[in-house]
Amino acid sequence: MNNYGIDIWGDNNFFIDNDLLKINYGCKPAIIDIVQKIRQDGNKGPLLLRFEHITQKQISTLYNTFNNSIEEYNYKGSFQAVFPLKVNQLPNFILPLVKNSKNLNYGLEAGSKTELILAMTYNNDNAPITVNGFKDKEMITLCFIAASMGHNITVIIEGLNELETIIEVQQESNNLKSPNIGLRVKLHNSSSGVWAKSGGINSKFGLSSTEILKAHEILKNTNLIDQLTMLHFHIGSAMNTISPLKKALKEAGNIYAQLKQMGANNLININIGGGLNLEYSQFKRSVNYSIEEFSNDVVFTLQNIATNKNVTQPNIFTESGRYISAPSTILITPVLELYSSQSLATDIKLKDENPKLIIELYDLYKTINKKLALEFMHDALEHLESILTLFDLGYVDLQDRSNAEVLTHLIIKKAIALLDFNDYTELKNIADRIQEKYLLNFSMFQSLPDFWGINQEFPVMPLTHLNTNPTRFATLWDITCDSDGEIPFNANKPLHLHDINLKEEEYFLGFFLVGAYQEILGMKHNLFSAPTQININFDKNGDIKFNNIIESQKILDILDDIDYDTNHIKSILKQKLANKDIWKILNNYIHDNGYLKTTKE
Ligand code: PLP
Repeated sequence: MNNYGIDIWGDNNFFIDNDLLKINYGCKPAIIDIVQKIRQDGNKGPLLLRFEHITQKQISTLYNTFNNSIEEYNYKGSFQAVFPLKVNQLPNFILPLVKNSKNLNYGLEAGSKTELILAMTYNNDNAPITVNGFKDKEMITLCFIAASMGHNITVIIEGLNELETIIEVQQESNNLKSPNIGLRVKLHNSSSGVWAKSGGINSKFGLSSTEILKAHEILKNTNLIDQLTMLHFHIGSAMNTISPLKKALKEAGNIYAQLKQMGANNLININIGGGLNLEYSQFKRSVNYSIEEFSNDVVFTLQNIATNKNVTQPNIFTESGRYISAPSTILITPVLELYSSQSLATDIKLKDENPKLIIELYDLYKTINKKLALEFMHDALEHLESILTLFDLGYVDLQDRSNAEVLTHLIIKKAIALLDFNDYTELKNIADRIQEKYLLNFSMFQSLPDFWGINQEFPVMPLTHLNTNPTRFATLWDITCDSDGEIPFNANKPLHLHDINLKEEEYFLGFFLVGAYQEILGMKHNLFSAPTQININFDKNGDIKFNNIIESQKILDILDDIDYDTNHIKSILKQKLANKDIWKILNNYIHDNGYLKTTKE
């Protein structure tokens, strides 16, 4: 049976039980049951299910793995982490994360003024805050204000001008407390992931070696050297191979050691940024390291450099966000329609008198079996070709041609179901050409922007029918009026789905690992808003709880968001409709979201 690579990307968070996909936690509910429950309350569009226990698992794994490495190597520094807000700023994700990780002293990273305000508001007391990205005087002043509130905040310098602004703010505001200062290193080593641009010599961010020396001189001359507590680097998100990290650690470790030797006595932290990746592939592993290897490499390399250079072993900071947030969230998309190039048995409309070839085709269809499947399929293809020629010559009519096409498709379909088509190149080639288009109730631009933007792969699978062999070669369409809103069938990474009669039953696909970056990058192309989102928890007894449901925006609210006067819209529409009953219907529609309703309603 097709397990959709769940053993590769699933990390034991899910399991297939009989024909259902289930959550491997608490009462182990089937995802379809969760979905049906939410849909009973009228939420018929796409859904975002966020599982808080998975975020918790990722955070504890990160801390435990690093602490194990620290213990194993008898490392002298400590481990600390912050969650980079840019990866997921939404309150339904951030607020539980902050609350549930208080005991670990897990902090937040901010890359803009707005993110900094969030960190200043919600960060756990005493947990670290790091601030990256370009900063103006106002943003640096915000860092001073955060420090004055009692936050343990480090402002990480991207350029020498920022250092000068820090000095300026410090001199101007006697009553504000100074934040700690960090230097971001512009590495000559960068990552191999899709976001590799954020590391390396041409990176937008960080200080070159010359600038680091200058920064050190400025800090020393202005008596601020004791505020320098952190060296930071980030080699890029979604790192697929470990070797760039090792090189980056050596580079940053040696800079750290030299700055220490030059008198930066309070420099005690190395912040390794993000980069820790997850396995997104459904087919074969694409990430060549485990989190254990990652943490061992960090600890070992930094220890080695510190020992050789006879300096204190630094505390290790990480800002990994993708690893923490991606697995927690599943996007559920109802299948609305199947645009089939295949046919149904009900499409066969035999006449009272049929051409001999059609009668033979019908016989092949009725009697095909595993042993003769290939032979029957060849015969059917030959018969179809003959019928098409006879049609062109005017000897058979449109009904005969339709019957021949339907029967041949059905025979091929049966052959595919009877044989393992991967063993038969010819069958595989035929099957590859007969793709089915599954129309999904979602917007790619809103919910999977990284697929559209950078071809990011997301695991996808049906929630049901998992003990039935999927026979259809699926292309996925979203409901935007944009031909980019498609995940085309890829013969190298084929998605096979089930043959479903949507008039009789519903069929849902889940997209996994969508909790990092997707929600905030999502855009309102065609004015589709974010799906309805639900946080899912389990209590001590393992019973499931639905929290913080945020419904997908109503049509009028979406228009309000892009600055339309919705009262004006309403009054114009109302004016145009004399009939009060019709206005009632229209009024209901504009107070609902714009996603489609499934066919079975
Ligand atoms: N830290 C910084 C400075 C970043 O720019 C980023 C993202 O690009 C991260 C952390 C998060 O990295 P990741 O997505 O690999 O978790």
